[in-house]
Amino acid sequence: MSDPRRGVTILGSTGSIGRNTVELIEAAPDLYRVEALVANSSTELLADQARRLRAGLAVVADESRLPDLRERLAGSGIETAGGAAAVVEAAARPADWVMAAIVGAAGLAPTLAAARRGAVVALANKECLVCAGQLMMAEVAAHGATLLPVDSEHSAIFQVFETDQRDQVEKIILTASGGPFRRSSLDEMAAVTPEQAVAHPNWSMGAKISVDSASMMNKGLELIEAHHLFSMTEERIDIVVHPQSVIHSLVAYGDGSVLAQLGSPDMRTPIAYALGWPRRIRAPSPRLDLAAIGTLTFESPDPVRFPALRLARRALQTGGAAPTVLNAANEVAVQAFLSRTLSFLGIARLVEATLDAMGAMTIGNLDDVMAADAWARAHAQAAIRAGKAH
Ligand code: NAD
Ligand code: MG
Repeated sequence: MSDPRRGVTILGSTGSIGRNTVELIEAAPDLYRVEALVANSSTELLADQARRLRAGLAVVADESRLPDLRERLAGSGIETAGGAAAVVEAAARPADWVMAAIVGAAGLAPTLAAARRGAVVALANKECLVCAGQLMMAEVAAHGATLLPVDSEHSAIFQVFETDQRDQVEKIILTASGGPFRRSSLDEMAAVTPEQAVAHPNWSMGAKISVDSASMMNKGLELIEAHHLFSMTEERIDIVVHPQSVIHSLVAYGDGSVLAQLGSPDMRTPIAYALGWPRRIRAPSPRLDLAAIGTLTFESPDPVRFPALRLARRALQTGGAAPTVLNAANEVAVQAFLSRTLSFLGIARLVEATLDAMGAMTIGNLDDVMAADAWARAHAQAAIRAGKAH
């Protein structure tokens, strides 16, 4: 008899989103069969997850770690593989549901491979929509794949967006926590350390997205993500700072109604929504106690201290390769900030300088995306080396 369980693959299983996904899947062994798990280099956790979930395949992107992974999984019957091509092959294996939770543009090729197989793709990896949104959406449509947003804001919008009344949707409103520097002065922000930037007030996340949240580039990336997921033009996407992170986002309709999704700030809720879809399943997230919270507040984002929002809007308006360049320059800048070769405010400056320097580049296929991405990385890295970015 064939296995009635749903086949699932997790790309980026050792990360913050990946670990939460593993937790939900582990709690329902009768429902899910794990086809493949993919990580960058953390073989100890990857092997442990693979054994616990009885995965068919475990892949480590950093090929130098493959011997270690093999040793850890010896005698388990679990297949192992290593390298970037093996990551894409893992994503292309037959699974009904694929969690795309690799961080950065590195997740693009495997996520595309899953989409091209017509899978249900739970998308956490927002960078792949930012750097190749049109291509990704076209591949999803061409192969009958389903893209389910995992980002809490986009999951919220997805839940309250009445797709059969799209002509009545006036706006979507993305909420932003404002990050750890919501109340900091520019002088204070000039001196922040990586430790301060990754200490998010409401959410526990990987290092890159934590820095993005602190600079609000995360909201800029999410603006571009929302544009592609919901076919909304840039001027119909608003951003409001909501420090309590209880309302995850909203959709405003022509009759004046505004629909929102609320919950405690816990990624297990949007992950569970995508895992159970089209049904809801239980998640162990803390329940929302509105009386205990008492007050929900809202404010406009400060464009002076958080220029990343303007840069993301500019990239979306410019179109073509601009969002790809924005994303790649930001990835380089965040990495440089984390390794203390770029200041916190230097992140947005470097992204802006890279956008300023970009010439005409058309985006027609994946090679074009990779070329624009590579150009932006090289340009941003050269600026850091030359001491032009600070
Ligand atoms: P993370 O850094 O905690 O985890 C990243 C995962 O990707 C790890 O498993 C790592 O091993 C893997 N990985 C990294 N580079 C890889 C490569 N080249 N090949 C294969 N695997 C690779 O990051 P995270 O916080 O879990 O975020 C993952 C993605 O989800 C990001 O795109 C982020 O923006 C998005 N996201 C995260 C959250 C959150 O709460 N953490 C919320 C919304 C969206
Ligand atoms: Mg988000």
